[in-house]
Amino acid sequence: VDVEIVGASFAGLTCARICAAHGLPTVVWERKREPGQAVRTTGILVREAVDEEEPPIAGTRRIHGVRLFGPSLAHVDLEAPGYTFLATDTPALLRELAGRAADAGADLRFASSFPEVRTGRLLVGADGPRSTVATLEGLGRNRRFLVGIEAEFEGVEDLEERLHIFLDSELAPGYIGWVVPGVGITQIGLATRLPARPDLERFLRRAARVVDLSGATRVGARGGPIPVGGTVRPFASEDAVLVGDAAGLVSPLTADGIHTALSSGRVVAQAIVNHLLDGGPALPVALAGIYPRFVTKRLLRRLLDLRPPNAAIDLALASDRFPTVASRVFFDRTGGRSPVGASRR
Ligand SMILES: Cc1cc2nc3c(=O)[nH]c(=O)nc-3n(C[C@H](O)[C@H](O)[C@H](O)COP(=O)(O)OP(=O)(O)OC[C@H]3O[C@@H](n4cnc5c(N)ncnc54)[C@H](O)[C@@H]3O)c2cc1C
Repeated sequence: VDVEIVGASFAGLTCARICAAHGLPTVVWERKREPGQAVRTTGILVREAVDEEEPPIAGTRRIHGVRLFGPSLAHVDLEAPGYTFLATDTPALLRELAGRAADAGADLRFASSFPEVRTGRLLVGADGPRSTVATLEGLGRNRRFLVGIEAEFEGVEDLEERLHIFLDSELAPGYIGWVVPGVGITQIGLATRLPARPDLERFLRRAARVVDLSGATRVGARGGPIPVGGTVRPFASEDAVLVGDAAGLVSPLTADGIHTALSSGRVVAQAIVNHLLDGGPALPVALAGIYPRFVTKRLLRRLLDLRPPNAAIDLALASDRFPTVASRVFFDRTGGRSPVGASRR
């Protein structure tokens, strides 16, 4: 085997598809029984993930803006012309990514944990926030985490097509709560910065004050750790490399990681193909400077970790500048060049 990958999720399946499509014998170990089983993530795709990585998007739901609530439940609506998020049927999305990788020739081994004795010329750790590959290979490990928990509901009536985001330092210290109009379900959850633990029932009571849950039935649950310490170092050696959450490639501020999981799977696959087939540079050289550094976002993460008091959040939300600043966080990954809009209600 040329390429041995641990983890059949966004990063691992993308990497496997590209390596296999170039004719490299590629094996993927995945401890889950099948693709998309027991997903942990809300599964929202940011616009850039769709534009740049072209994931399968059949059956997704477009969400055009954000409704941002303060602790007092006063809110502002934010949108950017032409910007949409995509809610996904995440298990279906992962099944489709697995199908693409298998069609390209990758050997996907579900219900098979990584045996921890490597056989591939190159080993790729796509095994999530608490990466076994990172530990075994002496690579950098994630050390700062949020923990998120989410319930899936059917029968939520009249929910506006927006991400409903709740800022509250007591309920969700270090992060946010959310209500997402998903595909066939509504997803309601929150995350907190460890060691604080999310109290989902308390958040559901809060959300029920602005979202009608009277006819809703709980049908499922998701959740897990989210690394927010930024890119781990080192993330590559001569014969092993980390991608996606294993490499800490999650925005420390907004905690979205699917886009970077897909893109890191792709760039690492391209570096592997170049190295193994065309005599290109070894991974540490080929990937130097490629992963994001998240400098500003790590700084803003520190501010969030200070848990600003709820009264201060409500004051900020009421200020004239707030909608513009918040819109930049949600919609603008261009460093201030894209137009954003906001309205207050
Ligand atoms: C509650 C929550 C909500 C989130 N919401 C969003 C969102 O809406 N949008 C967004 O962009 N990001 C979101 N994220 C983050 C996003 O889910 C991750 O960044 C993304 O899943 C990372 O993908 P990955 O392929 O790197 O790893 P993962 O999706 O974590 O997959 C790792 C895979 O490796 C497998 N594995 C691990 N160890 C082994 C082993 N030893 N042997 C075999 N298999 C193994 C696991 O079973 C798993 O399938 C959320 C995260 C959480 C926890």
